[in-house]
Order: sequence, then C-alpha cells, then structure tokens
Amino acid sequence: MSEQLDVIVVGGGVAGLSCALRLQQAGLAVRLFEAADRPGGNVATQRIDDFLVELGPHTLMASGDWVFQLAEELGLGEALTATRPQAGDRFIARDGAIHTMPSGLWSFLTSPLLSLGSKLTLATEPFRIKRGEPTDSAEDFFVRRFGAEAARVLAGAFISGVYAGDPAKLSAPAAFPLFWGFEQAAGSMILGSVPYYRRRSAERAAAGITPRQGLFSFSEGLGAFPTAAAEALGSAYQGGTSVERIERSGQHWTVHAGGASLQARAVVLAVPPPAAASVLAGADQELSGELGDIPMAPVAVVHLGFRERQAAIPEGFGFLVPRGEGIRSLGVLFPSRLFDGRAPAGGDLLAGFVGGMKDPGALDLDDDALAAIVLDDLADLTGLDAEPDMVRVMRYSQAIPQLVLGHPDRMERVTQRLEDNPGLFLAGNYLLGVGLKDAVRSGLETAVSCRAWLAPSTDAAQDAS
Ligand SMILES: Cc1cc2nc3c(=O)[nH]c(=O)nc-3n(C[C@H](O)[C@H](O)[C@H](O)COP(=O)(O)OP(=O)(O)OC[C@H]3O[C@@H](n4cnc5c(N)ncnc54)[C@H](O)[C@@H]3O)c2cc1C
Repeated sequence: MSEQLDVIVVGGGVAGLSCALRLQQAGLAVRLFEAADRPGGNVATQRIDDFLVELGPHTLMASGDWVFQLAEELGLGEALTATRPQAGDRFIARDGAIHTMPSGLWSFLTSPLLSLGSKLTLATEPFRIKRGEPTDSAEDFFVRRFGAEAARVLAGAFISGVYAGDPAKLSAPAAFPLFWGFEQAAGSMILGSVPYYRRRSAERAAAGITPRQGLFSFSEGLGAFPTAAAEALGSAYQGGTSVERIERSGQHWTVHAGGASLQARAVVLAVPPPAAASVLAGADQELSGELGDIPMAPVAVVHLGFRERQAAIPEGFGFLVPRGEGIRSLGVLFPSRLFDGRAPAGGDLLAGFVGGMKDPGALDLDDDALAAIVLDDLADLTGLDAEPDMVRVMRYSQAIPQLVLGHPDRMERVTQRLEDNPGLFLAGNYLLGVGLKDAVRSGLETAVSCRAWLAPSTDAAQDAS
C-alpha cells in the first residue's frame, strides 16, 4: 500500500527546508523533493584549496530572529558567529576610489561620497513630508526622499548589492516595504523609522529575544544550516529528485518526480518562480504564467583566494558600486575580513559580483574574462596588484527575483489563483523579501497556513485513531 502523505514540499532551499521541518514537527507526514544532490539551493559552502567559500549568500541579518531560533533547534547555536568587529566599515566606490560609508554625523559631514548640496538634501529629509503612490519605482522613491545624487550613489549601491536590479524598474512598495511603510506612516523615512525601531526593540525585549546586531554566519559557513535541516528531516528529505509536474486529482495532489507519482493532500512549491511556473504548467496555466513572468537577475560571483594577505584591501565588509561610475563589478565582499577561518592563515578571500539586470551579457563571458573584470576593478579602486592563488566562478542565471513595478498586483492575482487550487501553497524569496531571512520566514509562514488548511482533516484523523 502506498504511503499516505499530508504534504509534499518541492524544493530544498532554506524556504522549503524550514517549511518541511515545521510541518513535520506538527506531526504531519511530509516528503521534501530537492532536485540537486545537496540541500540548500543558493545557500552552499564549499572548501576549495583551504579556503572556506560561500558560493551564494555570505551573511545572515541579525533581524531574522526566526532563523536564529531554528538554528538553535538544529543544534547550531554554538556555531553561530558574528562578523569580526573590524568588519564594521562598508565602502562605496565613487570617482575611482572606495570611500567609507558614513556611520555618524562627523563622518557624514566630512565624507567625499556626496556633494555639500546632496548632504543638505539628505539632512532635510524629515522636513519634506510627502507620501508616494503605490506605483512608484524605487528610483522615484529614493530621489524623492534623498535627492538625485544620494539616490544614485547610496541607494543605487544598495540596490546593486541586494537586487542586482534596475532602480527604475523595481517597485518601491514591493522591493522596499519597510522604507515605504516609514514614508506612508510619517511622510518621511527618518521620522517613520524612529517609532518603528523603538517599538521593535521593546517587543523583542518583552518576548525575551536575545538582542543581536550586525551580520552572522556559522563557523563552518551558512551551508551548515540547510545541512542540519535536511538531517533533521531524515527520510522525509529526498535529494536528487526533480519534480516534473503536479496536478490535482480529486481531493489530492499528484506529484510526478523521478519517474514515479506520489499523492498528498497539500503541496508546497518552494522553488524559484521560473521553476514553479514549469512545474505548474499543466495544472494552472494562468498561475504558471504569472510566476513565469517574474524577472530574475543574472549574477556571476568571482571568488578570489590569495595565500598572502593583501595590504591594499582595507579592513571592512566590502564595497558596493553605484551604476554610472564606469566600474563593471556590482561590488566586492571581503569574506576573510568578515569571519575567521575563511582563508588559510595569513591569506585573503574576496568575492566579486558581476552582472545584474543592467549587464545580463556578463554571464556569457568565460571564467578568465569575469575574473579579469573583478581584478581590474580592484586594481583601479584599491590598488590591488596580485595574482590570485584560487579562482572559482559561479554563474547564477536566475539569482535574484525582481520585485518590479506591478509585482503587488501580480501577487494579488497569484493569491486569487491559489484560492482556486485548494491545498496548493507557495514559499520562497519572491514573496516576503529576497534575502535569506525572508526566504526562511516565508517557509515558516507557509507551514502555518498549510497546517491550518489541513487542520480539520488532521484532527478528524487523530479522532479516528
Ligand atoms: C549569489 C547570491 C548571493 C546572495 N547573498 C545573500 C546574502 O548575503 N544575504 C542574504 O540574506 N541573501 C542573499 N542571497 C539570497 C538568498 O540566497 C535567497 O534569498 C535564499 O537562499 C532563497 O532561498 P529559497 O529556498 O527561496 O530558494 P533557493 O535557494 O533557490 O532554493 C530552491 C530549491 O528548489 C530546488 N528546485 C528547483 N526546481 C525544482 C524541482 N522541479 N524539483 C525539486 N527541486 C527543485 C532547487 O534545486 C533549489 O535547491 C543571495 C543570493 C544569491 C544568488
């Protein structure tokens, strides 16, 4: 007799793993199918020639309390590592050099990053009370709040770093919901942020949540998290199995994977939008079309390992590059300055990002050409003059979902289609935010919705037993 499953989760990135774990903990019969031969999706740590390399994301933000809680549950509490204190400085490239991001009044006043006029526009942000329209682009929003220069240099660099996106095409409320909310609440980002952060720290204190600041990883890298989650799932985790399609049959969903078919009462699609579109093509063409139309930014990551420390690289987090500076790299992180143990003793590890929505052709370049772009940019901006001992290039043709103009309306249509597909749920980093913590949050929230939807029949089954 075939196994009776409550839920099949498709995709073993951090969203799918978190979702499956919570459902399993609730006593539901769960199976997770992951196409790749390792769990984690974008989150992957590899040891390459004595360097501990984060192939995808490098850091986890302190504000993701739920990730820390899950990490504790998975026995990773002791392995949590904050960035080194010296890694506090962030840099932005402008006029052929990198400059420290101002972090206080004096550094703001003396920073060469912005002109005096731009600093005045920024400083008077709280006095320009204005609320935007939901159709605003990120560019509209940041120009309104900060003025054109700071919008290009500061917000533009941030957008390159988080979205690898085009500020004119991203939707302000979808891509920057927190900042958007501040403006909606108070007519100013600065005025709106003060009560929010005050309330948030009071709520965290009341809930007994450890106050954390900054950025984190695990001693063996972020990959420790999906590895531990897959282990905790045990036989419910099935790697190396790609789901080809799903369809609704009566009260169940049938999932076709690896040449076999399996039924469950609910399905959670925790795969990137293009993969979700493909899996859903036969089940709901409209839903598949909506998800398939979400653009994805292409990004190449060039990892450069040096056995000797590079004096040209300052202590700090790394630098971001606003568009319009004549520099092709989107930014370069300094992983060996962020965390101990990322390079052999006395060495350095850097990670350069190239591509994005404004430079999709970069991914067609070969490894040598991509490494040359990052090395040339490092030479121009920092004076680095050394051949790397290790080069590893990763290409992500669909790296970051773009929450573009019209995304909120699209997601409303998606929600409507889901109502016509009872038992079908979505999770992933195109729903609540594109970062790691929001991907996990989406997995956890989807687990709650899925459980609630299954609850009546689960209770009935328990009553019967
Ligand atoms: C280069 C890069 C750097 C990043 N840096 C950061 C950072 O520093 N900080 C941060 O917070 N975030 C960062 N992010 C974002 C972060 O990695 C993602 O938000 C997060 O990992 C997304 O998780 P997910 O589970 O939603 O999706 P994914 O990680 O994409 O996982 C989806 C999984 O589904 C599987 N799958 C796909 N199709 C099928 C199928 N048909 N059947 C079965 N399985 C399937 C895939 O193999 C994959 O494992 C970065 C992303 C990239 C690409």
